[in-house]
Amino acid sequence: MVFMKPECTSAWGRIKEAGGRALIIGGGIGGLSAAIALQAAGWDAAVYERGPSLASAGAGIVLAANAMKLLDRFGAGAEVRARGAAVRQAEIRSWQGRLITRLPVREQALRYGTEAWLIHRAALQEALHRCLQPGTVRFGRRLERWEQDAEGVRAYFEGGETAEGQVLIGADGIRSQVASQLPGGLPLLRYGGFTALRGIARYEHPQYTRELGGGFEAWGPGLRFGFSQIGEGQVFWFAALNAPPGTVPAQGNRKQAARSRLAGWYEPVRGVVEATGEEAILAHDLFDRAPLRSWSDGRVTLLGDAAHPMLPNLGQGGAQAMEDAAVLAGVLDPDDIPASLRRYERLRIPRTSRVVRGSRRMARLMQLQHPLAAASRNALLGLLPSAVQLRQLDWLLGHEVPSGDEAL
Ligand SMILES: Cc1cc2nc3c(=O)[nH]c(=O)nc-3n(C[C@H](O)[C@H](O)[C@H](O)COP(=O)(O)OP(=O)(O)OC[C@H]3O[C@@H](n4cnc5c(N)ncnc54)[C@H](O)[C@@H]3O)c2cc1C
Repeated sequence: MVFMKPECTSAWGRIKEAGGRALIIGGGIGGLSAAIALQAAGWDAAVYERGPSLASAGAGIVLAANAMKLLDRFGAGAEVRARGAAVRQAEIRSWQGRLITRLPVREQALRYGTEAWLIHRAALQEALHRCLQPGTVRFGRRLERWEQDAEGVRAYFEGGETAEGQVLIGADGIRSQVASQLPGGLPLLRYGGFTALRGIARYEHPQYTRELGGGFEAWGPGLRFGFSQIGEGQVFWFAALNAPPGTVPAQGNRKQAARSRLAGWYEPVRGVVEATGEEAILAHDLFDRAPLRSWSDGRVTLLGDAAHPMLPNLGQGGAQAMEDAAVLAGVLDPDDIPASLRRYERLRIPRTSRVVRGSRRMARLMQLQHPLAAASRNALLGLLPSAVQLRQLDWLLGHEVPSGDEAL
């Protein structure tokens, strides 16, 4: 008998009694989503996470319409809406504060039937976790290696524990241990050309309240700043700084780095940076990977960042991991796992490759260094009608993963 919390079953639909045992490595957004979707499809799905508990660190994450629709199906949408903040205005300004454009977020909400939402990553993971059967996630399990044969797959964890199943899903992120054992090994990452500083603060500004759904980006040459409400009284900000790889400011120097690079910027920028504790500022170099032609071998496959790490410029890494999860659960057939994993790849690789490439193109445009090039970009963006902006993102935000395997 498959158990799920009632509020997590209704939207996802009929729970089948079908699958075998699925081993999912990694308890991030992708691994938790995969477990929800597979349990709903009748699989006995277990998640093995190296951390001691659900990650509490992280920053804000935007959940576009395609992600929100899947969260509704998974049963986590209501909690995300209760704890997060809806995107009801999204301005792009110059670094001095001049309005360049307003993104058509209200029109998007009408077109796709849901607003986009922003939330703290930890709150999102908690909402997903609540949709799982109790005990699904086993913490403190670091995968060391895996083996497979015609009958099944075995995972080996640090400390000597093992687990066996019919399928192994690597949802273990950008430096995936599962992927490192696939034919060809772990492919090289590509540096995106910039470092992200990300902070969480309690900060109020009358123009950008949660009720107004307020957020903005301010763009300067080679430097971009974003500000959003994420619910529960918190504001999320990021600064994307063009920089050589390996020059991320160390803990202790991050606030000062933000202060000095953003001196003189549009006022809420200084205010929110000052309101942020040094310990609440994360700093990372950002990477993606050239799209893969295959990411499965026999009974082993990848999902989320392990399969297709992307730059964050379309805000789609988490959403694409959720789409992977829904598609995989729709096609995974316990009677022919290798063939169903090939089908999963065929369904997902073209779309995720397009998102990886689109994110990289967007990053180049948003991080333009030359002041004249940046000024021309701003002028063109200001002239772009909202109808065109809407159409340009239809393929991405309007995408719906068919529910039920018949539709796939
Ligand atoms: C700056 C930035 C901003 C972003 N903004 C957005 C956004 O606004 N919207 C959006 O949709 N996406 C965004 N993303 C992307 C998004 O965060 C990722 O795509 C998403 O978190 C990927 O989820 P995942 O589960 O595939 O991987 P991860 O979140 O990396 O999770 C992998 C998990 O696997 C575990 N793990 C790793 N190795 C092992 C092992 N050997 N054994 C067991 N467990 C292991 C890790 O501890 C981790 O919990 C952003 C990313 C960045 C860097």
